[in-house]
Amino acid sequence: MKRIYFDNAATTQVDRRVFSAMKPYFCDIYGNASSLHSFGLASKKALEDAREKVATKIGAKHNEIIFTSGATEADNLVLRGVVYKNAGTGNHIVTTEIEHPAILETCRFLETQGTRVTYLGVDKNGLISLDELEKSLGPKTLLVSIIFANNETGVIQPIKGIGRIIKKYNKKNSTKIYFHTDAVQAFTKIDIDVEKMNIDLMSLSAHKVYGPKGIGALYVKNGTQIEKITHGGHHEYNFRPGTENTASAVGFGKTSELFEPASYKKLENIRKYLIKKLKKDISDCYINGPSTSSGQAPSTSSGQAPSTSLRTSPETGNVLNSIVNVTIKGAEGESMMLLLDKEGISVSTGSACASSSLEPSYVLQAMGVPKEEAHGSLRISMGKDSKKDEIDYFIYHLKIIVAKLRKLNPLI
Ligand code: PLP
Repeated sequence: MKRIYFDNAATTQVDRRVFSAMKPYFCDIYGNASSLHSFGLASKKALEDAREKVATKIGAKHNEIIFTSGATEADNLVLRGVVYKNAGTGNHIVTTEIEHPAILETCRFLETQGTRVTYLGVDKNGLISLDELEKSLGPKTLLVSIIFANNETGVIQPIKGIGRIIKKYNKKNSTKIYFHTDAVQAFTKIDIDVEKMNIDLMSLSAHKVYGPKGIGALYVKNGTQIEKITHGGHHEYNFRPGTENTASAVGFGKTSELFEPASYKKLENIRKYLIKKLKKDISDCYINGPSTSSGQAPSTSSGQAPSTSLRTSPETGNVLNSIVNVTIKGAEGESMMLLLDKEGISVSTGSACASSSLEPSYVLQAMGVPKEEAHGSLRISMGKDSKKDEIDYFIYHLKIIVAKLRKLNPLI
């Protein structure tokens, strides 16, 4: 049976060049990178080379990259670390309703300890309002944490604009509000320059971009006041104790070196092709994401977008080329996903972290998608090597599956 993997936002295959780069650091160069003998120094050199590669990719300095076990840890470290270290200055975080659970659940935990959190909403295209952000800042605000590109929809936030607002606010009020972004889905797909974008803190993960699982990083701009949240050593500039994961760091460095926005360029056409085919072959479906200047359907009086047509035309604009999130009326997402899997096609109904819950996506609901329609949504996340014939195969089976499910649906 043909097998097609359209769940690259959940994780990716390790690139074979990344795997080759990592291999020597298991059985041959295995010293503890903190040991001072030659075995240790060989590992240390590889670790620092990897750090340099990740730093270069985002315009950071070598000593501003803290390796972690992944972005979940980086997100925890940044939120708790900033709140704990700066408790004497403030107690307020600004974030959004559409963050990854690693941010949202950490915020909820901090709320139980007295932190105040503002959750910014988004419009029907999944974008925050810069005006609302500006209004939410106050003398007690310590941190603004806003996802760079959403993992369910691919929607890219106006990161430069956010950075400018925070910089302006800090200048005017002589405060220090830090700007953090979870850039897991954007890393290597979008050019990122932390200096130009006024970013103080950024979470990254290797396994979304052809690197190994279990390694990520937190970029911490020099001078940022952050407390460590685990104890037991002075590794990673005293921010994150624990024996360094040299082999995985090498893999992360290699993937940072190998991939850049141009590596995903051809996906622009594949995405357009997928949307065109969905429009043509599947009735009553719409894409969840931002629109181009033309072809945008008007919103209803409730502020919700109409649900009976292809809602937007996100062929270009503020969305990753790799993700298409589609709502298909009258067909249930989990059922579509499982029936597609039987045909060898892997897609998801949303974030992998929430896939065991049967609750419809909170990201789509924040965009105004009614609960019952959010239940009928699929995330198709393509990889750099996805092909048009895979889209054809997917659409062929999806059409049959949707017809079958609609027939069984007593509500239509
Ligand atoms: N943030 C975003 C936006 C993600 O997509 C993910 C992965 O699902 C994470 C954080 C968590 O990353 P990790 O798997 O490295 O802990």
